[in-house]
Amino acid sequence: MLEDSVDLKTITSLCKRRGFLFQSSEIYGGLASTWDYGPLGIELKNNIKASWWRNFVWSRNDIVGLDSAILMHPDVWKVSGHVENFSDPLVDCVSCRKRWREDQLESKNCPDCDGELTDVRLFNLMFETNMGPIKDENSSVYLRPETAQGIFVNFENVMKSMRLKLPFGIAQLGKAFRNEITTGNFIFRTREFEMMEIEYFVNPGEDEQTHLKWLDDFKNWYSDLGINSDNLRIREHKKTELAHYAKATSDIEYKFPWGWGEIQGIANRTDYDLQAHSKQTGQKLSYFDEKSSKHVVPYVIEPSAGVDRIFMAILLDSYHEEDVSTSDGKSDKRVVLKLSSELAPIKVAVLPLSRKDVLSNLANQIHQEIKSSGVTTGIVEYDDSQSIGKRYRRQDEIGTPICVTIDFDSIDDKCVTLRFRDTMEQIRVPMSNLTEQIRLNLKNV
Ligand code: ATP
Repeated sequence: MLEDSVDLKTITSLCKRRGFLFQSSEIYGGLASTWDYGPLGIELKNNIKASWWRNFVWSRNDIVGLDSAILMHPDVWKVSGHVENFSDPLVDCVSCRKRWREDQLESKNCPDCDGELTDVRLFNLMFETNMGPIKDENSSVYLRPETAQGIFVNFENVMKSMRLKLPFGIAQLGKAFRNEITTGNFIFRTREFEMMEIEYFVNPGEDEQTHLKWLDDFKNWYSDLGINSDNLRIREHKKTELAHYAKATSDIEYKFPWGWGEIQGIANRTDYDLQAHSKQTGQKLSYFDEKSSKHVVPYVIEPSAGVDRIFMAILLDSYHEEDVSTSDGKSDKRVVLKLSSELAPIKVAVLPLSRKDVLSNLANQIHQEIKSSGVTTGIVEYDDSQSIGKRYRRQDEIGTPICVTIDFDSIDDKCVTLRFRDTMEQIRVPMSNLTEQIRLNLKNV
């Protein structure tokens, strides 16, 4: 484990206890490396995706969205090179039979039992299935291993319908599937995951400087999400590790508890894909440049990020344990997820001090008022179970930025208490000014 970082077990257990992530098919003993996002997990995940969409589609004038199908014509994957090249080197241990990815091993023998390993076989990572009732090679289709090909094959449709001029980008997010040889480290490497990809088309010759610009834009986005920049680094791929389509690739890596790991790749895919699909289909996949009166096949820069890995980096980065003193002077530990308000699964929690009717009537009314005020589009939770101390702890642990506490004085003085997660500061505010106070403290969510 790296110094100062929280261990994976702590995060996994918080995720299960508080409804962020559950093992898939758990009551059947689980399915290896497959996870279900719980009620709070789906909120955090949706907030990450919404932030990406807001930043890279809505805020810009040069990028549009797309949602293409997961199943595509099988020739797409032949022409893109995935059938031939999208594989990892597989080795088996002849003693314990465990499988390994040869390029991830540090020694020539099995890391578990030191047994001898077989020769390398290339194992294709694409999941193959069949379309329709007859199972033969003519009905074979693949679950997409990246969303990018859906963008390339729609290049002409999107460019023409949206009257786009170079440079422009097409953004898409959605599920991808890879039959990974080795999985693990919680949601870091799974066989079903979600990607957020942009194919940004430029004039050939402008590709290298655009590549650098995208690295900067994404570094800024990660720091806006609240990830400490000391825990991020850029790693350039060596020529020998480049994917079959790439001229250059830089990864953005996060310092996970087991070491640095990729959360996003930014690749220069040149005109590889458009040329290949154009050659195969006979369709002109090019841009007509009015100034030079020439057809250009654009180069493409591809920032490709994994939602699940970003989700995990955000949880690890926002996790804090703090010593606090209790009301009876003892010391205690509080766990707090210091998530930005934009990402927090629950934005505001309304907490009446007691379940007595006089208080719950007022608290319900306040709850409704906050929900309908438009001050946030996220969840405003109502919680009247357990002691107020325990309720604050739970809200801290799931990252709720603001709690609104209603006590018996509220009935007469028409004020409530706002409690802030990070500082634990409490202020008394008039109910008439409550939504404005929440608005000021939540910002843009
Ligand atoms: P790795 O080297 O870790 O296998 P990769 O280089 O194959 O990753 P890319 O093809 O660049 O990954 O995919 C883009 C992003 O998709 C990655 O940065 C990562 O966030 C995510 N991703 C890729 N494979 C997985 C996986 N098996 N599980 C979860 N996320 C993944």
